[in-house]
Amino acid sequence: MSVVERQGWDVVVVGAGGAGLRAAIEARERGARTAVICKSLFGKAHTVMAEGGIAAAMANANENDTWQVHFRDTMRGGKFLNQWRMAELHAQEAPDRVWELETWGALFDRTKDGRISQRNFGGHEYPRLAHVGDRTGLELIRTLQQKIVALQQEDFAATGDYESRLKVFQECTVTRVLKDGDRVSGVFGYERESGRFFVLEAPAVVIATGGIGKSFKVTSNSWEYTGDGHALALLAGAPLLNMEFVQFHPTGMVWPPSVKGILVTESVRGDGGVLRNSDGRRFMFDYIPDVFKEKYAETEDEADRWYEDPDHNRRPPELLPRDEVARAINTEVKEGRGSPHGGVFLDVSTRMPAEVIKRRLPSMYHQFKELADVDITAEAMEVGPTCHYVMGGIAVESDSAAARGVPGLYAAGEVAGGMHGSNRLGGNSLSDLLVFGRRTGWHAAEYARGSAATRPVVDDAQVDAAAEEALRPFSVTGENPYALHQELQRTMNDLVGIIRRQGEMEQALQTLAELRVRAARAGVEGHRQFNPGWHLALDLRNMLLVSECVARAALERTESRGGHTREDFPGMDRAWRRVNLLCALAGDAVALSRETTAPIRPDLLALFEKEELVKYLAEEELYE
Ligand code: FAD
Repeated sequence: MSVVERQGWDVVVVGAGGAGLRAAIEARERGARTAVICKSLFGKAHTVMAEGGIAAAMANANENDTWQVHFRDTMRGGKFLNQWRMAELHAQEAPDRVWELETWGALFDRTKDGRISQRNFGGHEYPRLAHVGDRTGLELIRTLQQKIVALQQEDFAATGDYESRLKVFQECTVTRVLKDGDRVSGVFGYERESGRFFVLEAPAVVIATGGIGKSFKVTSNSWEYTGDGHALALLAGAPLLNMEFVQFHPTGMVWPPSVKGILVTESVRGDGGVLRNSDGRRFMFDYIPDVFKEKYAETEDEADRWYEDPDHNRRPPELLPRDEVARAINTEVKEGRGSPHGGVFLDVSTRMPAEVIKRRLPSMYHQFKELADVDITAEAMEVGPTCHYVMGGIAVESDSAAARGVPGLYAAGEVAGGMHGSNRLGGNSLSDLLVFGRRTGWHAAEYARGSAATRPVVDDAQVDAAAEEALRPFSVTGENPYALHQELQRTMNDLVGIIRRQGEMEQALQTLAELRVRAARAGVEGHRQFNPGWHLALDLRNMLLVSECVARAALERTESRGGHTREDFPGMDRAWRRVNLLCALAGDAVALSRETTAPIRPDLLALFEKEELVKYLAEEELYE
């Protein structure tokens, strides 16, 4: 068997996006020797793509904003399926996490009187997103990276070694979480460049690997989003929660092909951009659901006045939560009122002067000018839904972010489930990963300290099995991993996409089962030194497992809610409000089970009007 290098750490963080870096900083600051592993270069995680901002009720742009209003918006956005304690902690702690970033050197855009500026976003009652133009994620990662370097410099001063207490293993992929009995004992992975295997032994492992978008054909997600963390947890024995909820962002570019799927940030609408169909009609006024009627403008005049005077006008319907806008666009296109390439028009060019667009949306302007020769200051964009975010994820305890059922395993960021319920509001991911990144780092460090006397032991047989599994693509033939990946993407996009039907999902499950059999024969040539075909062959296991969880849960939930729309069950069913769907592995098979959600605490329910609760809560909850 291969020789596998081993190192010992207290906490291993898998993922160096916002969640992973924030977790690593916290764990190191609490005294844990911490290793971070990431597939891409340090500083290149998917988080750098985040554009619009970080949602936090700092009340800089509207003094009426409070954590309670943010909590309410988040619960409404998630259609009350959110793990409410997470939504509460998130709303309470997000402002401190933003201010903390500023003390670490983040340069946010400012208000005229010098405070951190906050912008409007869909589903948020007040302007709430702290931002850096449309490059917020880049600044967030730059700041966290800088903080890590600062900590390493402190460690050098104390120990003579920069990496003695905090080390980043970049361009490395983890393929297995190792266990000693029930509890975590470390991770197995490989260096992408050399193909060398390694084991990091640790009592606590934080999974912060992001999302699953690369299982879909049209997506805004980066290449890293192959659902690795979801699969790693599943294989380690931790359940996944509510995987049916996948967010399709309403405004991905549909044309030209060079930018298909790439995101047009919601700030374009927050700053005044409007959606029109091929008749030139601002169609979103036709799609305001009853639950949101009181909060959104009925006429174009009122909607336009809101940009200048939000206290006396209702917001434009272009700023409804993402699931509502995505479904509306889908309907317009289906009914023949779409743009020439199957989207609708998003126009900012007639609404703002060119220099304002360039100043407020610099990345949007440059990206589309350079990649697609589309000048957003002069013409409308053609946009449509693109797979963007997964609300489902590893089932975690709310306060500690500990993964359920596997002591020593933690999860934060997009890979964790619960926080966003059935639909995430824009801006709530960056705040989520700061709040729960910190919490996982803190609890993982404490757990590791508590395990010091009885450190788990890595089992050689598991290491050998992981190495054998990773080498299998070199000894099998018959299937091409790239072709399988394309088939998977087509299946998920077409059969488990934005609008779902029973027959199609059954067909998808059958195809996924066939693809799983074929993936076992996905072979590669050459050797282990930087071999992208081999990497993909290994990623296929994860994408197929996670896709099956999405399809099974989507078939089971016979209602439409947030990021799960059933054509055969078009309405939201209050009886389903109390139901979580859990996916676990039984042998090789994905097994689905139901659990009843924890009752929402009365003081939090009291933040809502009774008439509103009637629309969401199950009958028996209302009696309670
Ligand atoms: P990531 O930042 O994706 O980090 C995942 C890390 O895990 C990476 O380092 C990756 O290399 C590593 N990894 C993955 N698998 C493995 C493995 N097997 N082994 C080792 N390492 C692994 N949200 C907002 O709140 N506001 C916004 O304005 C916003 N804008 C967005 C714009 C775009 C275009 C997109 C696509 C998303 C946007 N989002 C936004 C969503 C948000 O960016 C993501 O949800 C968030 O960045 C996820 O962060 P994360 O830390 O969970 O994961």
